[in-house]
Amino acid sequence: MRTPILAGNWKMNKTVAEAEALVRAMIDPLVAIEGVDKVFCPPFMAIPAVARLVEGTPIGVGAQDMYWEESGAYTGEISPLMVAEFCRYVIIGHSERREHFGETDETVNNKIRAALQHGLVPIVCVGETLEQRDAGITDAWVSGQVEAALRGIPAEQVAGIIMAYEPIWAIGTGRAATAADAEHICGNVVRATITRLFGQTTADAVRIQYGGSVNSANAAELLAQPNVDGGLVGGASLKAEDFVAVVRAAVPA
Ligand code: PEP
Repeated sequence: MRTPILAGNWKMNKTVAEAEALVRAMIDPLVAIEGVDKVFCPPFMAIPAVARLVEGTPIGVGAQDMYWEESGAYTGEISPLMVAEFCRYVIIGHSERREHFGETDETVNNKIRAALQHGLVPIVCVGETLEQRDAGITDAWVSGQVEAALRGIPAEQVAGIIMAYEPIWAIGTGRAATAADAEHICGNVVRATITRLFGQTTADAVRIQYGGSVNSANAAELLAQPNVDGGLVGGASLKAEDFVAVVRAAVPA
């Protein structure tokens, strides 16, 4: 009942020319795959070019981050108004931003609110480190991140948010979570937390992606889990044939 959604997070990769070439190579095969929502999240500089290429197709465009103020003296930042000119989606709270750029639960919450105010769909990332996993605190940690991210947001808005469970130890490492672990966290932790805070109807509507070393070999099993409603894909989104294969694996049986 939830349409799977696959988003490619290109991170700090692809010049405008490279981005255009990648999109041109994927556009026809991706448009031909029905029953799955697809999103490209290029670096800011390439967003207008990518948006132009996918215009008129069902492929969405997302930013990888944004600031929460609409304008002003915030050198180097991009505002929700600017993102909304080209994008429907925005990734918020990616672990790389939390680790390298000082994102906190509070800034994540500010950004989610700003995104919703501007009609953007936030893709909200949560996930534990290897140390937290080894210490056995994954469930409590991820649940706390979900609660902090969604604090004060009305249930009807939460329903439209996309959550992405991304164990940090799985990002870019080639070591994906098992399908059982991904299902456990997406279902028993992320969706269960949303149920506790906002009710069953809201939780049932939220789409929850898994992210972390998703590739064409493991995508089908991960995406077949009942509480895994798609994927946030890094490395495998940078090659046309890999991303197309991952999206194909998400087609509901
Ligand atoms: C990501 O960047 O969100 C990600 C999951 O990366 P990768 O697929 O390369 O692990």
